[in-house]
Amino acid sequence: MLDKRFVLENAELVQSNCERRGVKVDVPRFVELETKRRGLQQEIEDLSRQANEVSKSIGKAKDEAEREQRKEEGRSLRDEKDAKASEIERISAEADALHRRMPNLTHPESPVGGEDSSRELRKGEIEVRRMGFPVSDHVELAEQHDLIDFEAGARIAGNGFYFLKNEAAMLELALQQYAMQTLIREGFTPMTTPDLARGEILQGVGFIPRGPETQIYSVENFDLNLVATAEITLGGMMAGQVIDEEDLPIKLCGVSHCFRTEAGSAGRASRGLYRVHQFTKVEMFAFTTPDQSEDTLNMFLDLECEIFNGLGLPFRVLDIATGDLGGPAYRKFDLEAWMPGRGEHGEYGEVTSTSNCTDYQARRLDIRYKTKGEKGTNFVHTLNGTAVAISRALIAILENCQQADGSILVPEALRPWIGKERIGVPE
Ligand code: AMP
Repeated sequence: MLDKRFVLENAELVQSNCERRGVKVDVPRFVELETKRRGLQQEIEDLSRQANEVSKSIGKAKDEAEREQRKEEGRSLRDEKDAKASEIERISAEADALHRRMPNLTHPESPVGGEDSSRELRKGEIEVRRMGFPVSDHVELAEQHDLIDFEAGARIAGNGFYFLKNEAAMLELALQQYAMQTLIREGFTPMTTPDLARGEILQGVGFIPRGPETQIYSVENFDLNLVATAEITLGGMMAGQVIDEEDLPIKLCGVSHCFRTEAGSAGRASRGLYRVHQFTKVEMFAFTTPDQSEDTLNMFLDLECEIFNGLGLPFRVLDIATGDLGGPAYRKFDLEAWMPGRGEHGEYGEVTSTSNCTDYQARRLDIRYKTKGEKGTNFVHTLNGTAVAISRALIAILENCQQADGSILVPEALRPWIGKERIGVPE
């Protein structure tokens, strides 16, 4: 969330930032409420001080009548204080709700506009292959080679769930290994994380735990939710901590399952594995000083490009427009891989997303750093990025690596874990 003092002092800037990001928040109303709250807080402190003085003076009263009069004075000061405290509670609830809805500030170079205004920055090293044969999509390829059981998934848990089988199951594990090994070489600490987290952690990271509009499955009778991404658990890990500046940046990579209700996505292109309710993801996460976060975002993007170039997949990089940044991101880059079976003649589809959330999540989660020899603490910056989201990476691999004879060439980088060059050709 934004610093409240910053909002009070820059209300117009914050309001126009909300508008550019397509978020409706009444910033002047927040300023009115917060100013009132601060005034009331001051009045409560004054009343407390006066009540203390009165109560000290009771012993010094010259007779019973004066003692009674001072007691009465004390009571009325405390009643006034209590009334103001209830008013503060009411005002704070409304002000805090407005405050929580305010998105992060925005990088000056982020393109302004909705989803379609995102700007292509560059393409990957691999060019889109011209296939001189009828192209199959990943659902057809999976059926041909017995790789995914969507029907069993639907019987067990409903549409949007699936079983990976044979080489597809091995590809999931291979992709995890490949991404983790790449990141470990770059100094990331490997982790596997819980798949459930408490409501306050989700709130801190910027997800709403319960309600019809959320992406989150919550567990009945428990303050627990299935995580939509390991960003939640990796970011939440440091909640309430103070980190020594010398230890920054902290770079983590975590494997988790991701669960999404995909509320509101009905009708969006979602054949096969593209928009499912559960998938596995290797996530990068970093805690940095404010000076380090811009370079770290570029590093995350470079690593995503390295991973997808290494898989031999064609992709493009997008600088995400203001209307599609969500709440916490200050700047966001997506990779979209070419998916030859998508749409009529192939389309790009999002495979990764990396964001610099500056101090927006750190304020909510209360994660700070301390500089040696200096008083006080400052909020860290947090960054997240997809190293590999398995289900979409699988789509890109199956569809781009299909051959004229119907077989699928396994990307060289994954062969050590798959143990074969091709899927669909007897060894
Ligand atoms: P996000 O955390 O929303 O930025 O998503 C990170 C990555 O996860 C995306 O770039 C996609 O590759 C993948 N992803 C997101 N939602 C889904 C979904 N419902 N089904 C499959 N993959 C998804």
